[in-house]
Amino acid sequence: MTHPALANRIRSAVDVDAVVALTQDLVRLRSENPPGGETEVAKHLRGVFAGMGLTGRVVEPAPGRPSLLVATGDGARSGKPVLLVNGHLDTVPAAAGGWRHDPFGGRVQDGRLYGRGTADMKGGIAAAVTALQVCRSLELELPCEVVFHLVADEELGGARGTAELLRQGLVSADACLVPEPTGLRLCLAERGLMFAKVATHGIPAHGSEPAKGRSAIITAAAIVQVLHDNVFPQTPHPLLGTTTCNVGMIRGGSGPNVVPEECELRIDRRILPGETQPDAEQGIIDRIASLGLYRGTDYELEVETFCEPSEIDGAHPFVDFVARSCRAMTGRDPGRTGLPFTTDARFMRNQLGVPSIVFGPGDLGVAHTVDEYVDIDALVTAVGVYAHVFASFTGTEPLSSKPARSSVDTEVEGAHSVS
Ligand SMILES: [Zn+2]
Repeated sequence: MTHPALANRIRSAVDVDAVVALTQDLVRLRSENPPGGETEVAKHLRGVFAGMGLTGRVVEPAPGRPSLLVATGDGARSGKPVLLVNGHLDTVPAAAGGWRHDPFGGRVQDGRLYGRGTADMKGGIAAAVTALQVCRSLELELPCEVVFHLVADEELGGARGTAELLRQGLVSADACLVPEPTGLRLCLAERGLMFAKVATHGIPAHGSEPAKGRSAIITAAAIVQVLHDNVFPQTPHPLLGTTTCNVGMIRGGSGPNVVPEECELRIDRRILPGETQPDAEQGIIDRIASLGLYRGTDYELEVETFCEPSEIDGAHPFVDFVARSCRAMTGRDPGRTGLPFTTDARFMRNQLGVPSIVFGPGDLGVAHTVDEYVDIDALVTAVGVYAHVFASFTGTEPLSSKPARSSVDTEVEGAHSVS
């Protein structure tokens, strides 16, 4: 079938009400993380797949933290190329105030669907599932196996979601689509992150005679000035720009009448492809050394979380393939972009070398905000493009993109929001 004929058939079969209703259903089933709890969303989607005659498998490494795995056929055993759709079922919490629309109401107004997760990323998941329904309603013989991994825990790093699936050896694919919100542009690269704690030391003294002590808060304040919102000396990435550093927390002192002995900063340093954890640590150390302050004597630096950056080579054939499906369905090129934060795409790119593109409906700028929404037009466009991809994917050439790293993200202490 020629591409225009396929595009027209898909367009005529896309059911706007179906993708809107599925997105609403998913938004109404709360799955905020923290605390985390994807059971109801996973159960609902399992039922939707069952309606297509597809049996899902659940991997649940901790109670209430399921990931749903569904394949259109025998997966890799079918001999067909495998296209993986990886999407996360959890959302960030919806803060109590500030919303004009109920974050779990799924209200539609002026062409937008509002609610927590509409953009990030229940809308994208609903679009991908609806796309499979479109293919089946048209009785298209898919040239590939489409495998859905609808996972838990992405918002806190993925340890109970995609990372667990990898640990169990359950992830294998020729290419991967991640329907996170990218404004329907092809996202080829994303920054990693390093969360670290900087603890400064002082000499306590009576608050009435501050000159007799040395304030840990004054030292910390100087460090804040050289770290926060400063650019570190890296060559800017064409899609990601520069690194950044945010000092997001500060805690110190024991009372107004004591020269503070301890102060602690928590920082969020974003990482460009090619940069390692030791590189990023050294950048912090060098910057603080410009103040004449030294690790071990004046302060301690402790890395709490490191998530790797990742990218796919823009010349990889899978990029052009997805772009062709976009052009076939929309008449325009989707454009290329990078994400300032991490997604689960990094696992497939870095650990398996699977060419992975993040592409989905919804605007980056509304993810994690109040009155999060997705444009219904964008949902519909995504359904069409995903259906076109499912109906056309015949594999990729041998990889021209190489894994940026082979190591695993590290998390030293506790759980931290990483996206
Ligand atoms: Zn997301």
